Amino acid sequence: MATFGNLTDRLVDTFKNLRGKGKLSPADVDGTVREIRRALLDADVSLDVVKDFTSKVRERALGDEVSKALNPAQQVVQIVNDELVAILGGEARRIQFSKNPPTVIMLAGLQGAGKTTLAGKLAKWLAKENHTPLLVAADLQRPNAVTQLKVVGEQAGVPVFAPEPGNVGAEDAAPSRGFFGGTVGNPVKVAKDAMKFARDKQYDVVIVDTAGRLGVDQELMKQAADIRKAIDPDEVFFVIDAMIGQDAVATAKAFQEGVDFTAVVLTKLDGDARGGAALSVASVTGRPIIFASTGEGLDDFEPFYPDRMASRILD
Ligand code: GDP
Repeated sequence: MATFGNLTDRLVDTFKNLRGKGKLSPADVDGTVREIRRALLDADVSLDVVKDFTSKVRERALGDEVSKALNPAQQVVQIVNDELVAILGGEARRIQFSKNPPTVIMLAGLQGAGKTTLAGKLAKWLAKENHTPLLVAADLQRPNAVTQLKVVGEQAGVPVFAPEPGNVGAEDAAPSRGFFGGTVGNPVKVAKDAMKFARDKQYDVVIVDTAGRLGVDQELMKQAADIRKAIDPDEVFFVIDAMIGQDAVATAKAFQEGVDFTAVVLTKLDGDARGGAALSVASVTGRPIIFASTGEGLDDFEPFYPDRMASRILD
């Protein structure tokens, strides 16, 4: 994966130095752990996560895990793999569908993170899985956001509930004139109205796109928190651009405090920036990564599997 290309090369080189060795000496282990530490830090993985990671790898590599099938070098690779899976959240996480539909999924994150695009991807994917999703445009901050969601909804073949007349992708989804005027500018009301509409029309998943700013900002966070309170979503996905770099951890913590998200979506994994900071997010917040977005097209999207990602990083 392009995002982790450099990290992969560094780790693979480190492991190469262990090849052909018999039992590893403490000095071998320390040298290896030091290289892993540097590679992770250079990839922008956060310092706390790196410290924890390397101390676990060191402890296990020096311990007496015995495997007849693996030589010492392979054992180190195995340990690094296991610990990578652990920081990426361990088990794969799937959407927790409500027993009492609609299942409500709210999207939160900074502007440009890829929320609106993700809304379309998620909607298309859910529709393919025989769900009946409704997209909701509760991002009224950016003039273009509603239009953008409509375009995405049309591409996905999924209706969009929007605070203006005629803004919907399906004839019967028209919230009509009642939503014009008063509702514009009040995303909490739009979200609430959308919930009622979804229940009446029996959509089984509601995906609510919310506003983002370039930086974390109190007003934005309050708005997102108000929407969360009003619609009581089953899931809140924190959408984060894997290319954001060192700000990832602070941003994730701010959103965790602000909207208490239930899972993380990593976007732009197709980019070539160092993606390590995003890898820290699950570990730092204790919230698993649920989906990965890998391009601008609506099909560039996949459920996230920590074990597959770890293997990709190590290959
Ligand atoms: P929002 O402000 O959070 O709603 O972000 P948008 O959905 O508008 O996305 C911002 C930009 O990033 C757009 O140009 C998208 O096409 C682009 N984008 C979104 N997801 C991805 C992705 O996974 N990979 C790439 N390369 N671009 C993406």
